[in-house]
Amino acid sequence: MSSTAAPKFQIFREVAPLRAYRRQQLLNQKSVGLVPTMGALHAGHLSLVRQAAQENDDVFVTIYVNPTQFGVNEDLDSYPKTWDSDLEKLHALDQELASSSARGRISSIFAPTSKVMYPTLPPSSEIDGHGSFVTITPLANKLEGASRPVFFRGVATVCTKLFNIVQPDKAYFGQKDIQQTVIIRRMIEDFHINMEFRLGDTQREADGLAMSSRNVYLGARRRNVSTILVQALRRAEEQYKGGRRKRDDILWPAHDLTNSKLMEQEELPPSQRALYDVDYISLADPDTLEEVDVVDEKKGAILSGAIKMRPLEEPQEGEDSGLGEGAVPVRLIDNLILAPGA
Ligand code: AMP
Repeated sequence: MSSTAAPKFQIFREVAPLRAYRRQQLLNQKSVGLVPTMGALHAGHLSLVRQAAQENDDVFVTIYVNPTQFGVNEDLDSYPKTWDSDLEKLHALDQELASSSARGRISSIFAPTSKVMYPTLPPSSEIDGHGSFVTITPLANKLEGASRPVFFRGVATVCTKLFNIVQPDKAYFGQKDIQQTVIIRRMIEDFHINMEFRLGDTQREADGLAMSSRNVYLGARRRNVSTILVQALRRAEEQYKGGRRKRDDILWPAHDLTNSKLMEQEELPPSQRALYDVDYISLADPDTLEEVDVVDEKKGAILSGAIKMRPLEEPQEGEDSGLGEGAVPVRLIDNLILAPGA
């Protein structure tokens, strides 16, 4: 247990002082766990920090909204930025850690500017834009990458920078973004990055919706309908748990549910309904993310999906329509891991 409950973390905005501190920790044989985030912290992020504090002496949390992982027409400008409340949440969590049996505390927040992260050329979101990028193909082109072509290039690039700057012993990523975890693991292996990858469980709201910084844009009406994604995935998971291994046998109940819910919504008047588009429901190999026709018992599979909640057609006076008044489309992703031999 730590001796003091006083908040002790420091905020770094530049690389050099962070490196000086990190070097001292190395000399003191302190282990470091890194939790990269884009801020707008919620219980999903905090659970990764808790996990990192169980397994390390010190936790570094990075808060940086990375422009290169947003496409030119994506929501970089409207991505929620909540610096003060993020710091409050981290202080509260650090207090909790101080009075718990956790091994470590939050020692450092790294919140760089883009000039620090992209020191030579401005960060480009263009597909053929210039810059020093890390690309992990074909993994980065599948699933989320099919509709967000620069996304994983941006993620792999910023994580490489963060790993080089912080040089953690372990880095923590949430299962919520499953394709990201597959890509970062591949990157660590292929580039011989001297660091252990650690996975954290997806944290959910009581009704199953996976927590996400973007959920604040949903508002009550779309929020109610948005649980359709996890419900569909759970239907498919039941098939697998019931012994089915063929793609169509596993996936049909998921498609059936998303179709019937959409039809139900379409029958409501525009003032009451929330419509969505299903981008994909995937059953994929856990290492290659190739779609599978039959699940290999020894490997299991990743069941994942993405839906886009359309803007509200007719927001009502006094309705909780979320940040952005229902006008912002919200893309939701979720997944379940089908364990080997389950
Ligand atoms: P983000 O700030 O969205 O880039 O997420 C930072 C980290 O938090 C990533 O490793 C995410 O996978 C993880 N994360 C986001 N949402 C959740 C969640 N609901 N449960 C667990 N981890 C999450």
